[in-house]
Amino acid sequence: MASGQLSRAEALACSGCRHACHVMLYADTKAQLFGRIPIKHIILMQMRFDGLLGFPGGLVNPSKETLESGLTRELSEELGLALPISVEDHVDSCFAPASSSSSSHLITHFYVKKMDEEQIREVERAAASTAADHGLEVLGMIRVPLYTTKGGGGLASFLSHSFIGSARSQLVDAMLRFNLVTPGELHKALTHSLKTHAHTKQDLEAALALMEERRKRF
Ligand code: AMP
Ligand code: MN
Repeated sequence: MASGQLSRAEALACSGCRHACHVMLYADTKAQLFGRIPIKHIILMQMRFDGLLGFPGGLVNPSKETLESGLTRELSEELGLALPISVEDHVDSCFAPASSSSSSHLITHFYVKKMDEEQIREVERAAASTAADHGLEVLGMIRVPLYTTKGGGGLASFLSHSFIGSARSQLVDAMLRFNLVTPGELHKALTHSLKTHAHTKQDLEAALALMEERRKRF
């Protein structure tokens, strides 16, 4: 087990810790973008209320529910359907970086569940219609582009966005662990992503300069 990680049992033995459970739902697909770029896999993430990308899930209270039933409860609020998650879907547990807003440690538990393409479509439909959190805690479900386009877009651009907590590392780890992208493709995407990030900084600086210019005029 990598450093900083805990087994599920060690995590549960921590008295006074808070616990959060999140899941990556994914499916294989034969669909092709523009009829020629294989999409290969559908991975679901979400745009959260705080503008960050993350996985569905949330805080769970192990003194009142199991981690998995708590996660299922969170999923019914965020996705609008009951999705059973089992201990076998557990991938890892680790301490979240210390936060200024809370003195108690937060342990994040990560799960991965493979589904059929049609089940993933059903989750997407329910999340945008019956889910109580739609438009509130969850602004929308999104799919992760795993391919690379001619201009270097796709996975590299996606990885350069802003993520909650360790969601980016959880995504990268799961893509490797479940062979959803090759290590070579991922390395290339992450290297390109760092360059995209530098461009994003310039873009933000230009937007800020434009805004300051407008403010002077009005
Ligand atoms: P949520 O209710 O989904 O916002 O999650 C509960 C707590 O877990 C919040 O304090 C988040 O900051 C944190 N959190 C959410 N997703 C992740 C993640 N992927 N990795 C680490 N912490 C997370
Ligand atoms: Mn949540």
